[in-house]
Amino acid sequence: MPLESKAHRLKPVPQTEIRLASGEIVKKRRVLSGMRPTGRLHIGNYFGALANWVKLQDDPSNECFFFIADWHSLTSDYADTSQIAQNSIEVMIDFLAGGLDPEKSVIFLQSSVPEHAELHLLLSMITPLGWLERVPTYKEAIENVKGKDLYNYGFLGYPVLQTADIVIYGKDGVPLVVPVGEDQVAHIELSREIVRRMNFFYGWGFLPSLTNDERARAFHEAFRDSVPGEFVPVSEGEMSFVLSHARSNLGLDEFLLRVRANPQYFQHVPVLVEPDAMLTQTPRIPGTDGRKMSKSYGNAIELGESDESIRAKTKAMITDPARKRRTDPGNPDICPVYDWHKLFSPAETLSWANIGCRTAGIGCIECKSAMADNLIKWIAPIRARRAEYAAHPGRVLEVIDAGSKRARETAQGTMERVREAVFGWSAKRASVSGSAETAETKQHGRGIS
Ligand code: SF4
Repeated sequence: MPLESKAHRLKPVPQTEIRLASGEIVKKRRVLSGMRPTGRLHIGNYFGALANWVKLQDDPSNECFFFIADWHSLTSDYADTSQIAQNSIEVMIDFLAGGLDPEKSVIFLQSSVPEHAELHLLLSMITPLGWLERVPTYKEAIENVKGKDLYNYGFLGYPVLQTADIVIYGKDGVPLVVPVGEDQVAHIELSREIVRRMNFFYGWGFLPSLTNDERARAFHEAFRDSVPGEFVPVSEGEMSFVLSHARSNLGLDEFLLRVRANPQYFQHVPVLVEPDAMLTQTPRIPGTDGRKMSKSYGNAIELGESDESIRAKTKAMITDPARKRRTDPGNPDICPVYDWHKLFSPAETLSWANIGCRTAGIGCIECKSAMADNLIKWIAPIRARRAEYAAHPGRVLEVIDAGSKRARETAQGTMERVREAVFGWSAKRASVSGSAETAETKQHGRGIS
């Protein structure tokens, strides 16, 4: 054996990787997350998600998939789609400017991977309506959102699409995680329920080690009464037919009773991987008016915001409302300006603002101005990278297309498995061509051509 290949063979498996039962070496876990293309990202989006994504992609044990959820935009904003394409480009520019690296992460556009829609369709068939109607954010939106008609299937079914988005990147034996805040955990729990139900229906099969005789025996012992005639299944396709026929003839409860009573013949292999929530703490980043930062409230600072605009917006920020005069001591713990200091200012400025505020040693104008200086220092390199990408949108499209191609390869692999589990077409085709060949061989054997 040449030395080089021997050295390669003996190379220890790095700790950031695991060896699957199949012998394949993979990273320790897959991470999946997405963002709707609502337009340019602001510092709330950065600290609420993007900063954490960058951290995750820099951990070599993670295999990260990050996507722009353009189909999700349609679930509530289907009437006007004129901005979705441009907004998707803007979001990708912010992803790249904010530190996502296409060499380290698979960054892609949801609608460029049509397998998401196919899996969504299949999952929608097995998801009970009541599960979706009970989703708290659905009920809340239906009651509170004005000016939009949300009584469409897409909006009700968005948790199913979300589930498809996640689990299509699952790999057997590799944990699949979604970084979420506390308020999103229920969504991941629903995804887990949907996956369990899918696996429950389509995850049963014959043990692959069975001989043809054992398979025939398994059929006779478990399902003989559910398939009429003198049928004796032997091939993969026939076995798959037996299972789906028995499931629909006997009903699920009886079917499960029988497969579970015969563990020497049957096994349960999950079709999809159940995702897990990765609880993520994000810093508090209120808008300039103290409410949640949102573009629609006009209280956000975008990642490409100019110095002048940052100064104007921060000057108008609300502060501790009890601090009416310069001589009144304030409370930085309830002041959005201080929340921003914590993100952008060095320790000494933070301490200066904290003590100065509580003792009325500084005024709000100078406190805001110091914070704005540090915010501008922080944002400058991101803004410069953003401008560079914005000047070359063709390059941004190339990144989107290349990432989507990579994502699609993984998604296609999952869908092959899912289609087979649901329909058994490969097995069916193999059995059809097998019987055709057998018939042909027999005919040739008899001298008939
Ligand atoms: S001094 Fe600074 S922290 Fe205190 S209320 Fe004014 S802006 Fe807020």
